[in-house]
Amino acid sequence: MTRLAILGSTGSIGRNTLDIVRMFPDRFSVTGLTANTHVDLLAEQIISFNPAATAVSDEFHAEKLKRALPPGHPCEILFGTRGYESVASHPEADMVVTAVVGSAGLKPTLAAIEHGKDIALANKETLVMAGKLVMAAAAEKNVRIRPVDSEHSAIFQCLAGNRREDLDKIIITASGGPFFRKPDIDFKTVRVEDALNHPNWSMGRKITIDSATLMNKGLEVIEAGVLFDLPADQIEVLIHPQSIVHSMTAFRDGSVMAQLGVPDMKGAIALALSWPERLPIGQPVPDFPKLAGLDFYPPDMVRFPCLAMAFDALRKGGTLPAVLNAANEAAVEAFLDKRLPFSGIPDVIRNVLQHHTICHDPGLSDIIAADDQASASAREIIAGGLW
Ligand code: MG
Repeated sequence: MTRLAILGSTGSIGRNTLDIVRMFPDRFSVTGLTANTHVDLLAEQIISFNPAATAVSDEFHAEKLKRALPPGHPCEILFGTRGYESVASHPEADMVVTAVVGSAGLKPTLAAIEHGKDIALANKETLVMAGKLVMAAAAEKNVRIRPVDSEHSAIFQCLAGNRREDLDKIIITASGGPFFRKPDIDFKTVRVEDALNHPNWSMGRKITIDSATLMNKGLEVIEAGVLFDLPADQIEVLIHPQSIVHSMTAFRDGSVMAQLGVPDMKGAIALALSWPERLPIGQPVPDFPKLAGLDFYPPDMVRFPCLAMAFDALRKGGTLPAVLNAANEAAVEAFLDKRLPFSGIPDVIRNVLQHHTICHDPGLSDIIAADDQASASAREIIAGGLW
């Protein structure tokens, strides 16, 4: 039995993880669940899965959650960063699924590692912000970090059984998002609904916008650099509109390994929970005769400058990836609130990056300071219309 703490249980990855728990009640149990403010769904999940502890964003939502549960329900209700950290480090948890969106995932993930919990990592921002620190802490505590991101899961699978020194490069595939096939679209007039309309994957709002700008791919490039200890020039991105090849590894003999599957995140989640065993999760094999073809194109980094900025941030390192991530979070939030045009997202990020003085080899406090500063300066630039 693997006892899971799921951080971000009301989001898309969290709900999919609970579907897998429901399918295999003899293999998995739930010891902790957390959400931000989505209290009604969290209450339903608590009643179904009986975790020992839960946490929400603040005291107000903790009170609201208490009222949504039957009187005297034994689940311990916590709140705030401290609350998330204690659910992540709960003595009964064997593995922590980090499905929180954005930089909020960092501290609870570090708390989980500190307490020796294995990590199923869906929060890519954690590795983008503080990759070196997180990987060093995991190595010290003998914690296994298993990627939930489909691309990284694919690379992890393609590397298995191969010698690291034989690896030439990894090739991360990208669907291209909703605008890949629309070269004439004016990014100044893109509506929120258009950007949220992803062709292949059903995901949360923030990551769907990140897919439309290709920043999601950029964050994945940085995440892969950290997770697989690779420099930027051993990482390639290819647009693959069918999203069937989830990513590839190329070796020095010219041989390429690819992992294929239908675009559904359950596969990567289940594998992170059960590796090296594969669970019968009811996924069909891709219907190859119906696919008609698998296409690959180089990404257009001029039209999608977020990807180029991410490669640059990985190359320069230090606090720059954290700054890129923070500026992006603020810009995406502003776009979703209709305070910033779609075309303003890369402009805001570029502006924030240009004004940042990189701190090399940063500690946690340097990273958090860089994150705070970058968020504040992004908000200032957006509010002042200065991008
Ligand atoms: Mg992905």
